[in-house]
Amino acid sequence: MKIAVIGGGASGQMAALTAAGSGAETVILEAGTVPGRKILSTGNGRCNLTNLALDPALYQGSCRRHASLLLREFGVQDTLDFFDGIGIPTVAAGSARGNDAWVYPSCREASAVRMALEMECERRNVRIRKEARAVSLKKQTGRFLIGLENGSAEEADRVILTTGGKAFPKSGSDGSGYALAASFGHQIVTPLPALGPVISSSPYTKNLSGLRAEALLSLQADDTEIAREYGEVQFTDYGLSGIPVFQLSGRIARELAADHRVTLVLDLLPDKTEQDIRMDLAERKLRRRDRESGTLLLGLVPSKMVPVLFQESGIPLHVPCREISQNGLTRLAELLTAFAFPIGGVKDFDACQVTSGGIPATEVSLNLESIKCVGLYFAGEILDLDGPCGGYNLQWAWTSGYAAGKAAAKTAE
Ligand SMILES: Cc1cc2nc3c(=O)[nH]c(=O)nc-3n(C[C@H](O)[C@H](O)[C@H](O)COP(=O)(O)OP(=O)(O)OC[C@H]3O[C@@H](n4cnc5c(N)ncnc54)[C@H](O)[C@@H]3O)c2cc1C
Repeated sequence: MKIAVIGGGASGQMAALTAAGSGAETVILEAGTVPGRKILSTGNGRCNLTNLALDPALYQGSCRRHASLLLREFGVQDTLDFFDGIGIPTVAAGSARGNDAWVYPSCREASAVRMALEMECERRNVRIRKEARAVSLKKQTGRFLIGLENGSAEEADRVILTTGGKAFPKSGSDGSGYALAASFGHQIVTPLPALGPVISSSPYTKNLSGLRAEALLSLQADDTEIAREYGEVQFTDYGLSGIPVFQLSGRIARELAADHRVTLVLDLLPDKTEQDIRMDLAERKLRRRDRESGTLLLGLVPSKMVPVLFQESGIPLHVPCREISQNGLTRLAELLTAFAFPIGGVKDFDACQVTSGGIPATEVSLNLESIKCVGLYFAGEILDLDGPCGGYNLQWAWTSGYAAGKAAAKTAE
């Protein structure tokens, strides 16, 4: 009995290792020149491979129940043990927000994770066919026939489809796996880019471009707050980026797709109330009364932000502080706690880390087998599930890869 895994990313290699570990003859068909190329880019080259405080409720998409159940079979501790077992000890380290649950390899090198997985595949006799892009998938008289772009083919008794989504296509995941699934009648929940920067029509993003600032972000759909995130926002010439923006981007994509008006409201001084800020600004005005108005916010916010905040509050820049009106101060205090950026979209797949959407939960059994075709399994990002930053998406790749590999090998016994 032979199992073919189409796509040699994180989930594909885990699926292949599990299937081979159960005794199945296993081959990975990988379109690129190396398996696991996307792993190299994860966690800023350090590979945030899981999360000690992983909460299954934070996953989005229809396969959430699958994730909750399968994480009980292969969860965070299993992931740590697995990597330790292949010579990659791990360490929990602080994220940008001081969260110390994000797990990395101790050496902090994603390349070590990629290489150790490939070496383990070789050790377990998984055959890896590189530059082997699958372009067709058929089932004839109980066997799968996989047509490759280079004109050759591969036959197998079971197939695990782990071609990823559409995010970051330069790493190989260009969405071609959806067509292979669709050839068996599978529906695809429209793939949308997630965990990425967002586009804003605010006139100020260009002036602020390059600036990083800690803020509390309130995501509002039609003026109602639906989510919050805290962290370092990066301003770009087209909009906003940074981990808290990434975390909200999936929700933003869905709200925009539902035709809701989306705004990100930034509280630039979340530790202070608007009342405290008003009092502070009044004191500053007195203390710096003969200085230029721009010095009012010196030490409170990054200097690049001052002209923007003044313009929006109607305060002239080159007058003495004593001439700033009470109205101007009130408006400034409001802005410091609620600076609104209208959001028009999420950047495209090139700039995003994951795909929301994919094969829906209704079309896969709880062991990730297709309900349209016996012997066809799915794992990883091709399924309709996406998680926040912090190791959630790789954990899903390991968990679902393990589950699909185990189930496929079992039926192939
Ligand atoms: C920049 C970046 C940083 C990230 N950082 C993190 C992080 O720190 N932590 C985290 O948890 N997640 C992170 N992610 C998300 C995570 O990397 C993915 O969710 C995960 O790699 C998905 O694994 P996968 O196996 O499903 O798909 P992929 O890793 O995308 O692998 C799919 C593979 O299939 C191959 N393939 C595609 N089509 C075909 C075909 N037709 N035939 C043969 N092969 C094919 C591709 O070449 C690719 O190798 C990051 C993503 C990006 C882009």
